[in-house]
Amino acid sequence: MKKPTAIMIHHTAVSYQFNHDQFVANNSYHKNQGYTRSSLGFYLGYNYEINREGLIRQARKDGEITCACYQKNMNDGHCLHIAIDGDFDHEQPFKNEIYALRDKLRALTKKYSIIKSAIVFHRQYAPKSCPGKNMDLSFIRSLV
Ligand SMILES: [Zn+2]
Repeated sequence: MKKPTAIMIHHTAVSYQFNHDQFVANNSYHKNQGYTRSSLGFYLGYNYEINREGLIRQARKDGEITCACYQKNMNDGHCLHIAIDGDFDHEQPFKNEIYALRDKLRALTKKYSIIKSAIVFHRQYAPKSCPGKNMDLSFIRSLV
């Protein structure tokens, strides 16, 4: 287990219209992808996933190995990964998702003394748009 020093934000890239609550589907999908089983018994690659109602579910303990970003050792446990249900290249996040993300970011940055600039987007590390073109990093950091 590592001490968390960073937080990375993701989207699931699956639209609400196909699945309103994606934790279970993503867990199965990641199991089929061969992702490691977490100490909590899940295969989901992220530490946390937020659904459209703002419900946050945890799949991996803070500091545990993740399967979320293969660049720059971002899976070694030092980075906490939070995924938000939705495809934010094509739709906007729900208010409840942003409120839940805000509360979680506040709690995690306080608990582990993580600085605001260590809140990052997946697209800064990998050639993809994650967490979607409609997500703005300075806005997300301003929530903390
Ligand atoms: Zn991502």
